[in-house]
Amino acid sequence: MNASNLYESLERISNLVRTSVRKTGFVHGLQPVQTEALHYLSRCNHYSNTPVAVAEYLGLTKGTVSQTLGVLVQDGFVKKTIDLKDRRVVHLQVTPRGEKVLNDLVPPQILTAALESLPAEINDQVGFLLQQLLIALQRSNGLKTFGTCKTCRHHRIEENGLRMCGLTEEMLAEADGEKICREHARSSVAA
Ligand code: SF4
Repeated sequence: MNASNLYESLERISNLVRTSVRKTGFVHGLQPVQTEALHYLSRCNHYSNTPVAVAEYLGLTKGTVSQTLGVLVQDGFVKKTIDLKDRRVVHLQVTPRGEKVLNDLVPPQILTAALESLPAEINDQVGFLLQQLLIALQRSNGLKTFGTCKTCRHHRIEENGLRMCGLTEEMLAEADGEKICREHARSSVAA
C-alpha cells in the first residue's frame, strides 16, 4: 500500500473515532485536548505523569498543556502532587471522577462495534499490523516510543518475581508492566 492510500484510510478512521470520543467528552464538559490528556495520564507510569511528558506525548506546547491540566485539576478530574525527591517536579494522577469519565470515553463504542463485526482472525491481524505500522513510524522518524513498560529493554523481572527498572534501578509494581513510559526503549525481541 502506498503512503497516500494509507493516509486516506488512517485519516478517515482517526476522524471518525476522534469525533465519537469528542462527543462523549463534551457531555462531561471536556474539550478534546482535555480528554486526550486525561487518557494519557490514565495510562502512564509515575516517571511520565508530569506536564512535560504530557506535552511530549500529545505534541503540544508546554503553555497549552499547562492550561489544559489546570482545568482538569480545577474540575477534579486530576490531582496534583509534588515529587518527594525534587519539589520542582509536579505529578498528576487521575482521580476517581476522572476514571469514571474515561470509562465512558474509552474505548469508543464506534470502534468496539466495528471490531466486533470483524471475523476473529481479521480482528487479530488488524491489531498486529497497526502495531507494526506504529513501530515502523516511530523507528523511521526517530520518535519516542511511549511503549508499555513490560516491552522495554530496561524492564527486569528478578529471581524473586519482582519487577525492576534497569534504568532507574527502582522497583516497579506489577501493574507498572502495563503502563506507558516516556523513557521506554523498545527491546529488540519485543514487537
Ligand atoms: S523499564 Fe523502561 S518503560 Fe519501565 S519504567 Fe524503566 S525505563 Fe520506563
